[in-house]
Amino acid sequence: MTLVSLAQATYVVAAVLFILSLAGLSQQETARRGNILGMVGMVLALAATVVLALDSSERSALTTALLIAMVFAIGAGVGVWRARTVEMTQMPELIAMLHSFVGLAAVLVGFNSHLTEESDAVHQVEVFLGVLIGAVTFTGSIVAYLKLSAKMKSRPLTLPGRNWLNLGAIVASAILLGVYIATGSVVPLVIMTVIALALGFHLVAAIGGGDMPVVVSMLNSYSGWAAAAAGLMLSNDLLIVTGALVGSSGAILSYLMCKAMNRSFISVILGGFGAEGGTSAAAGEQGEHREVKAPEVAAMLEAASRVIIVPGYGMAVAKAQYPVADMVAMLRHQGVDVRFGVHPVAGRLPGHMNVLLAEAKVPYDIVLEMDEINDDFADTDVVLVIGANDVVNPSAMEDPGSPLAGMPVLEVWNAKQCIVFKRSMATGYAGVQNPLFFRENSAMLFGDAKAQVEEILTALRVSEGASA
Ligand code: NDP
Repeated sequence: MTLVSLAQATYVVAAVLFILSLAGLSQQETARRGNILGMVGMVLALAATVVLALDSSERSALTTALLIAMVFAIGAGVGVWRARTVEMTQMPELIAMLHSFVGLAAVLVGFNSHLTEESDAVHQVEVFLGVLIGAVTFTGSIVAYLKLSAKMKSRPLTLPGRNWLNLGAIVASAILLGVYIATGSVVPLVIMTVIALALGFHLVAAIGGGDMPVVVSMLNSYSGWAAAAAGLMLSNDLLIVTGALVGSSGAILSYLMCKAMNRSFISVILGGFGAEGGTSAAAGEQGEHREVKAPEVAAMLEAASRVIIVPGYGMAVAKAQYPVADMVAMLRHQGVDVRFGVHPVAGRLPGHMNVLLAEAKVPYDIVLEMDEINDDFADTDVVLVIGANDVVNPSAMEDPGSPLAGMPVLEVWNAKQCIVFKRSMATGYAGVQNPLFFRENSAMLFGDAKAQVEEILTALRVSEGASA
């Protein structure tokens, strides 16, 4: 077997490892194994790519090896640095940024392919579509990055006739494709790239804060298709397979997120098509709120039989998952039935809360999905809403004019008591005030979530010590 055919066989093994990796990542218990399989697959894929590049390069093997080593050193250096310094709360924006790189790569590969290769009509279509998807992914992901890192307002940009603008961009691109095939000139390719960059910006800018989870998974999908298009242009089978895997799994995830949020998949893909945008994003106070202090909450918890904890983005910011896990262990030890209710879009990443709770070693069997726990709030003595806001906002169900309208939420207000941990009366990610805070059975526990949970833990320990 020659080295080249060995490299091609390695591609097949890497593709199988990527499929097994995705299968592993679909469940919390097997996610770690899935990650390891993906890493092994990527190392094999990179090694095989280097062998194939050395074989097919027109330059000397030494020059090619040096070029590859240089690119590796820069890429790995930046990758290791970012992986070590990124905060868990910055992961979503980092992922959006990485998606933009895939889009940019597809654009560059497309132009390189146009400039350096003789091409027939099929290859021209590949180049055109690759650059189109890549450019949309590039600017769309940059807008997502800006919105997720709060450098840009999460409110939707609603230009007049915005759906016509999107449609116009698609029709213009289709005409330019015809011109490109007929003339082979770079001009229609360049004009389409500019249109696609604007389209990517507009598609994501038109989506409101509450719908951003779907956008993130949708851009994940786009980045996969951009990679697959680059694979077609480079005639690299593994890139086609891997891109298609990412593209289709991202599309499935987007569909599941849309279902969980009661949004139309088509509407979100088309940049909020048909969505009117909320009209009553009230940000002001809506009545009187009540405050409690940590020792009072500790006493309520000790007296309770059933407790549900609803974590949200604020728990991630405060890194409160560790003291929360200790508090849960202590309450369970005292015979209190404690469970978690996790909303599908809590935090800033799909599965964000599940990852944090698993990291803090909370047992999986007490962490329930929204649909599994929503009917149980009525039988619950105390609900602790720790750093969650939009995912427990009753206006999603009660106010048709709310930007959150239609999104199912955790119905925490049905419990006997509801304690909301946050630092102020500020709104959540969607920028909508939360009527939950002003309900009679709600009370606010102000302060950093971690400090407050630690204070509750101290109070519980003192009380346990006194009764021992
Ligand atoms: P929200 O962003 O709605 O609310 C988080 C709350 O945490 C804020 O009200 C904030 O209030 C509080 N908070 C922040 N820091 C702290 C702290 N240190 N201690 C205590 N509280 C704190 O979070 P949810 O999880 O409820 O909702 C997620 C939102 O993010 C949804 O709108 C969702 O659509 C969106 N989103 C989700 C994505 C996903 O994939 N999951 C991706 C992109 C967006 P205060 O400042 O007063 O402390």
